[in-house]
Amino acid sequence: MLYQSTQDKGRQVSAAQAIVSGMSPEGGLFVPESFPHLSLEEIGALAALDYPKRAVRILAKYLDDFSLEELEACAQAAYAPARFGVETAPLRRVGDLHVLELWHGPTHAFKDMALQILPHLMVRSMRKVGLGKQVFILTATSGDTGKAALEGFCGVPGTQVGVFFPKGGVSPSQRLQMLTQEGDNMHVAAVEGNFDDAQTGVKRLFADEGLRAEMDERGYALSSANSINWGRLAPQIAYYFSAYADLLAGGEIALGQPVNFCVPTGNFGNILAGYYAKRMGLPVGRLICASNRNNVLFDFIESGAYDAAGRAFHKTASPSMDILVSSNLERLLFELCGRDDQTVRAWMRALKTRGSYAVDADTHARLKDSFSAGWVDDDGAAKAIHDCFAKNGYTLDTHTAVAWAVAEDYRKNTGDQTPTVVVSTASPYKFSRAVLEALKGEQAAQDLDEFACADELERVCGLPMPKSLKALREKPILHKRECRPEGMRRVVEDWAKD
Ligand SMILES: *Cc1c(COP(=O)(O)O)cnc(C)c1O
Repeated sequence: MLYQSTQDKGRQVSAAQAIVSGMSPEGGLFVPESFPHLSLEEIGALAALDYPKRAVRILAKYLDDFSLEELEACAQAAYAPARFGVETAPLRRVGDLHVLELWHGPTHAFKDMALQILPHLMVRSMRKVGLGKQVFILTATSGDTGKAALEGFCGVPGTQVGVFFPKGGVSPSQRLQMLTQEGDNMHVAAVEGNFDDAQTGVKRLFADEGLRAEMDERGYALSSANSINWGRLAPQIAYYFSAYADLLAGGEIALGQPVNFCVPTGNFGNILAGYYAKRMGLPVGRLICASNRNNVLFDFIESGAYDAAGRAFHKTASPSMDILVSSNLERLLFELCGRDDQTVRAWMRALKTRGSYAVDADTHARLKDSFSAGWVDDDGAAKAIHDCFAKNGYTLDTHTAVAWAVAEDYRKNTGDQTPTVVVSTASPYKFSRAVLEALKGEQAAQDLDEFACADELERVCGLPMPKSLKALREKPILHKRECRPEGMRRVVEDWAKD
């Protein structure tokens, strides 16, 4: 299977090449040239398998320049109990809905589902393409990707990781997770600005020929651990199949029956993997895109007009979704407009120069065929956390709460009774203060620091706090670098000299 760029179809590369390069040099994103298909029989057979084996069944369809043995080794190492605990991606019944918990990995956000396996794929890909250099992985994070990339690549030979996070834009736990990261190949800097500034800055670094040449001289090729990298998206497809297999195994659905997924969305990587699963034959009903107050995707799905410039950026209690320029939408548009690279290029140009674009009526109609959308503000999400706990004794984090609220609204407004999976993206302990306030009122968190909030949350909700998050309070700060977006290149140059 070859991969082509969304902005230049003529550019075709192998899976290994797509993973090593991160994104296409002219600015497009790599997508598979076609979608492999799983029969219902193959989907049914997943029910008897454990998570690593399910993942291999999916990955093998896309990464055909890897042998089955290689993929098995990658999946077993990535999803081992030592990394994920006994359950990799458990599905829980909560009230009328199902919750797919994707945060049992080492950093307790769903980013681990892909970033635990990406380093294994990356190292093998580097060998396959005969890369005679190290890779320098540059990553912008809205909070969770950064730590997951650091954790995944820590100590991996031949790799360096540099993470840029928005200085005031992540939760205290997210910040500490990154600033206390140990390891010789790990670099972290806080950027003055929001996530879009950091992400645009990283994309600019990729496009900077001068920097590329300089890094090349130092023996580095640039790559990315953001969801623009195909090596992150492919593993995410697997958990949609896994959730379906668990519904089958639990007798909740019959084989072939459609299931809706409601996904808390930012950069559109998670929900795009759900769309790819659907294209591969998974019986998916609606893909429900849930946004917080930064509801640019909601407006786009409703109207067909994407407008990042004409709106304010809001800091919310779900910081990992505080995004206005949603990168992976480009991949969806490529499929919806009939794989017309020049049209995608024109839309992305308009987004860059004017901050907005509008798709044609056909593309918009195809978007509405698969996707629904909803959004809630912080109060709506807090109410969901409160009510879900009161009713079901189940604690949602602030991101999952957005999806929960949107899923409930969707069912109420449409009467659609299709079994619905809410995709749960983080442990509540990454956002302890906001979750505690939602459960017990603002006064409950008054005068408490972040750690005391976490302890109090544990007492209130009874869910055991992950050990690594508890241990943060003992760890020294190791990364102190800060910069403006214009200064990011200089920071990378310094890291490369270290
Ligand atoms: C990254 C993230 C999201 C958004 O996922 P996208 O793939 O960027 O849409 C939602 N919730 C949490 C907790 C995240 O870390």
